[in-house]
Amino acid sequence: MARLVTLTFLCLSTAAFAQKTKQAGWQQKTDYTISVTLDDSLNLLNGFETVVYHNNSPDNITEIFFHLWPNAYLNNNTPFAKQQYENGQGDFYFSEYKDRGRMDSLNFKVDGEKIKVEFLEGGFEIAKLILNRPLGSGKKAVITTSFRVKIPKVFSRLGHEDQTYCITQWYPKPAVYDVNGWNPMPYLDQGEFYSEFGRFEVTIRVPENYIVAATGNLQNLDEHLKLMDMSAQPFKKESDCDKSFNPVSAKKYKALTYIQDSIHDFAWFADKRFKVERSKVTLANGHTVTTWLYEICPNKSSIKWVDSAITFYSEKVGYYPYANATVVVTPLKAGGGMEYPTITNVGEAERQVIVHEVGHNWFYGILGTNERLYPWMDESINNYYEARSNYKPRYIHNHQLDLKGLSIDLPNSFNSPFGMLDIQFLYSARKRSDQKATLPSREFTNLNYGTIIYSKASLAFLQLQNYLGDERFDAMMKSYYETWKFKHPLPDDFIGHVKNYTGEELSWFFDGLLNSTENPDMKISSVKKSGDSLVVILKSNPRLITPFYLQTFDISNNLIQEVKVVPSTGKTTLKLGANGVSKIVIDAKQEAIDVFRGNNYARTKGILKTLGLPSVKPILNLENPEKIQVFYSPVLGMNLYNKTMLGVAFYNSLLPRKKTEFLVMPMYAFGTKDLTGYLDVQHRFFTRGAIKEVQVGFEGARFATFGIIPKLFTDTATNVSTEGVVDALKSYEKYAPRVSFLFKNNSPRSKANLKLDIRYILISEQAFTKRMFTNLSDASQFVDINFSATKNHKFAPRKFNANYQIGDVGNSFQKLTLEYSLRIPYEQAKKGLHMRFFFGTFLQKPGSSLEAERVFLRLGDNSGYYDYLYDYAQFGRGNSTSMFNQQMMPRTPGFRGFVLATGATDHSVLTANFTSTVPFKLPIRPYVDIAMVNALFNRTTNAGVQRGYELNLHYVAGVSIWMGEFLQVNFPILADKSIQEGWDATSNYSERINFTLNLNLLNPLKAVREFDLF
Ligand SMILES: [Zn+2]
Repeated sequence: MARLVTLTFLCLSTAAFAQKTKQAGWQQKTDYTISVTLDDSLNLLNGFETVVYHNNSPDNITEIFFHLWPNAYLNNNTPFAKQQYENGQGDFYFSEYKDRGRMDSLNFKVDGEKIKVEFLEGGFEIAKLILNRPLGSGKKAVITTSFRVKIPKVFSRLGHEDQTYCITQWYPKPAVYDVNGWNPMPYLDQGEFYSEFGRFEVTIRVPENYIVAATGNLQNLDEHLKLMDMSAQPFKKESDCDKSFNPVSAKKYKALTYIQDSIHDFAWFADKRFKVERSKVTLANGHTVTTWLYEICPNKSSIKWVDSAITFYSEKVGYYPYANATVVVTPLKAGGGMEYPTITNVGEAERQVIVHEVGHNWFYGILGTNERLYPWMDESINNYYEARSNYKPRYIHNHQLDLKGLSIDLPNSFNSPFGMLDIQFLYSARKRSDQKATLPSREFTNLNYGTIIYSKASLAFLQLQNYLGDERFDAMMKSYYETWKFKHPLPDDFIGHVKNYTGEELSWFFDGLLNSTENPDMKISSVKKSGDSLVVILKSNPRLITPFYLQTFDISNNLIQEVKVVPSTGKTTLKLGANGVSKIVIDAKQEAIDVFRGNNYARTKGILKTLGLPSVKPILNLENPEKIQVFYSPVLGMNLYNKTMLGVAFYNSLLPRKKTEFLVMPMYAFGTKDLTGYLDVQHRFFTRGAIKEVQVGFEGARFATFGIIPKLFTDTATNVSTEGVVDALKSYEKYAPRVSFLFKNNSPRSKANLKLDIRYILISEQAFTKRMFTNLSDASQFVDINFSATKNHKFAPRKFNANYQIGDVGNSFQKLTLEYSLRIPYEQAKKGLHMRFFFGTFLQKPGSSLEAERVFLRLGDNSGYYDYLYDYAQFGRGNSTSMFNQQMMPRTPGFRGFVLATGATDHSVLTANFTSTVPFKLPIRPYVDIAMVNALFNRTTNAGVQRGYELNLHYVAGVSIWMGEFLQVNFPILADKSIQEGWDATSNYSERINFTLNLNLLNPLKAVREFDLF
């Protein structure tokens, strides 16, 4: 299967534990005769199958496991359905019964006798045929059954889209019996297959006007001539090709028979509109292969990729043994393409996918590995060859592209298929979310199945090729192919072969690159000139030392010397010729796995020999390891007080992640005529053990706002001064160092993330002044400790957050808040009920000053005035009269309705917020917010003034217009009496409307840092 960054889970009891990893000297054989009829009015297959099961094992067999994989589409309890849901793919999980599939009408007989059939626990996908008599070693049994398949819509591989039929994983099929005994497995999307070799003879009955593409060799001469004739016809232009037109099916049926030996699966595809392309390839051994491409709207050039794949793999791995090789273009929802013996289907007739899928004829088809447990043995090796087929090695000196005078740094990916894989690998590796490549496919996260199996492990094979040299590597792989073709090599068969053939241990490759999550990091530690020589000290990650090449170049980037370095310790000293050398580079072709390439360069002259001067570039730049990059882009800002601000953002952080990331954004404010701005710097330390990463950072900000400032009022008559406050323009400065701990997740598929953030925050608010760093002695100080546990599931995300604050607002206070939110999806994936529960309490009360009231828990956080930590970007934070006063902050009790002072407390509050989607695609979400507030009351009765705390119930219900995470506008409709009284006091309904505007999403640094592909 082909995928870039795509795609997992779950577990049947056929666990990978205690698996033998070296194959036995025998293997079973299964010969099939199948006849099947397509009923395209009901999307049914009616079939009958005979399997001759040859027991070549030394064991007496008492039971035979059969896969009935169409039952994967039966209901939401199948491993396939659960995996799709976990992976955030909802089209099957939320589909209707009529669009689902199943297999029934089974009637298993062995040697003509009825036998007992049991289903493996948990479903109907795996049947256990209990034989009436044991099948002895060397004996065969004839197993027959009828079967009927209800063809699902295309949710994965088997399926139909209208009357385009993809008939794959479709017939009752024995599981593999090998050195590990039976290998039953449910159908999965992420995780492929393992099947016995044998001969297939399949007769397919379809209405006469269908064109069928199938595994094997067509036996009907008239149909063969018809296809030959069709392939000789000129094609219509794509624009003249009408995919929407589908002719009525003929009443009359035709029967087509296909035969193929030495394969382990059979697939077929049918459509009434297929056009046919045909070509042929003659291999160096004289064997001719006819190649075919079936597509509704074909493009003449696509078939050449089939030819080139057959030629390339035959040359590099071993001769293609079959007579036909077919590619069929159909809708497909499991990656870009899927392979079957001699036939492959792809979603688009695109070079990369075609070469990849055709290549699977070798790694999966002919070398029949257990793809479910060892995806690296087929996907990684195959993806390596696919990338190699289109790869021209070269030294990479600069990645610059001059675009109308704007020079842009490009990563290696733009000029190399391996460079593309490198970027994907780095994405996981720099987040430290990578997994080792030797895991079973279902244990990978959806993302890592792409970035590790398809990317990192493929790159590892490139590195092995470079280490062994092309000739030795290719000879070794050809010998592997000859030894294991039409067999089931297990990992140790491959590893043993490579070690025996090369006479080397290669533990850096097998134990290091494939079987660990360590990543190599080579660097040039120092360069010294001594006479005519350069003494170069190189260092490697001591936990994974891999071989690499080191090159020296002259001033014009001409290669002077290339040395193969095979370090045995973390530190290597090399002596190189110094003559003419201007630059020394580790791995100048960028072919070795290296998690940080930035330290692979050194110059013989200049101050910063191993670093170089920073390169300052405008936006749109990607990582160039040869340089320290600083990017800049103009920024235009605006708020009500500073008015228009113009400045420049300097930053280094774009994908993939860096160890140190920064954003410095000085701006000039035209309203206040002063310097404002924002800055954020963060450095990561990677650690081992329970904490995977420690981040140390600093945030700074300076802007203007509006609010109360202290003022001394002097009575001119008496000359007596009193302290008071006035509303005035003021400026705030924020200085906030932080440290964050990211915890390791031992089950990566759970998508759970645990994080602890500790911040110290210094806020200085003062009467407006153009000078910075003034009056810091009056500043407020806070410590904010936040623990969050999130589960980023696409349909059912959950988050728990615990926050503790201690601070000083005149008096010191301590506040604890707990928050739990979750989404319950229903009906369609896009529908859901969002629930949030919040509890906040003061461990130490802040007192009752104006300043203290800012930190109170309050139901409606409608004013930026209450954002005392200045954590939320606001347009009019100090405004109390305009609509800017109606911007909600996504924290604390979160009442969506203009609540004024109601429910503000220095004691405790418990809230529940509910938001639901509605039927149809309307961006409307009804909501209800309910709270129990323990608040101070102060009322005068006949008995005098009473004070104390009492519990009050409050609620607001309304409708939210949902414009994505970025903006929500809330229209409150109903509220409890006290809130309603507050509303009644304001004449204007528009003042009750409030909005959530998440300006923080616009911060590029945070966006990249929090960016998560899945
Ligand atoms: Zn593949």
